[in-house]
Amino acid sequence: MRKPVIAGNWKMYKLLSEAVDTALALKPLVANANHYEVVIAPVFTALKTIADRLEGSNIHVAAQDCAAESKQGAHTGEVAADMVKDAGCSHVIVGHSERRQFYGDTDATVNHKTRSAIQAGLIAIVCVGESLSEREAGQAESIVQTQLIKGLDGLTVADTERIIIAYEPVWAIGTGKTATPEQAQEMHGVIRRTIAETHGADVANAMRILYGGSVKPENIAELMSQEDVDGALVGGASLDAESFAKIVNYR
Ligand code: PEP
Repeated sequence: MRKPVIAGNWKMYKLLSEAVDTALALKPLVANANHYEVVIAPVFTALKTIADRLEGSNIHVAAQDCAAESKQGAHTGEVAADMVKDAGCSHVIVGHSERRQFYGDTDATVNHKTRSAIQAGLIAIVCVGESLSEREAGQAESIVQTQLIKGLDGLTVADTERIIIAYEPVWAIGTGKTATPEQAQEMHGVIRRTIAETHGADVANAMRILYGGSVKPENIAELMSQEDVDGALVGGASLDAESFAKIVNYR
C-alpha cells in the first residue's frame, strides 16, 4: 500500500509571523489525518521556526529546494541538503518547474540535488512535467520520461525509497487549469511504467506519484480516485490553512 501524500508548496509567500500563524492554524485541522503524509514547504527563513513549532505533530516540513553540492563550500546563496535537514526538515522539493523555468535547473542539476537530498537523509519530492507547447506538440510523454530517467539516474533501489515523484504539468500550475483526472492518470501510468523499466516493478509499485497543478478542495476527490494518483502537490490552495485542510481531509 502506498501512503498518500498531500504537500503544500508555499512558494515565496508569507513573512515568518504569517507562516507560523498558518502552520499553527493547520495543526489541529489535520491532526486526525494519519492515513496521509502531510507536508508543508515554507520559505527557507521560516523552516527552523516552523519545524520547532510543529514538533510532535503529524505535519512534516519541507524546503522548496536545496543545493546540488552536498559539501559545504563557497556557494553563495545556496543551502545544502544537510542544512535543510539540520533545520528540522524531513522533505525537500527538487526540480519544481519554476526552478527549471526561471532559475536554470536542468535534469542534471535535479539529479545532483536529488542525490544530495537522499545522502542527507531527506525525502526528495522530484517534480517533472511538460509545458503547454510541449503537450501541444505531442511531446508530453517523452519530456516527462526524459526528466524522470535523467533525474533519477544512478539512484539505487534503496535510494528510491527516499523519493516521491510529483507530476506537475506546467500549463496547470497557478493557472486555474487542472489536468483532467484522465490526463493525470495517463501520465501517472507512464511515470510508473518508466520507473518499472529503470528500477523494476517493485520500486514502481511502491513509488508515490503526486499530481500538482491547480489542485483545490473541489477537485481533489476526483484526482485521488485515479489508480496511480497517490497524492497532491498543492501551491495556491495550500496558503490558507482551511483550504489546505479541506484538501487533506477530502474524504
Ligand atoms: C505548485 O506550485 O507546485 C503548484 C502546483 O501550484 P498551484 O497549485 O497553485 O497550481
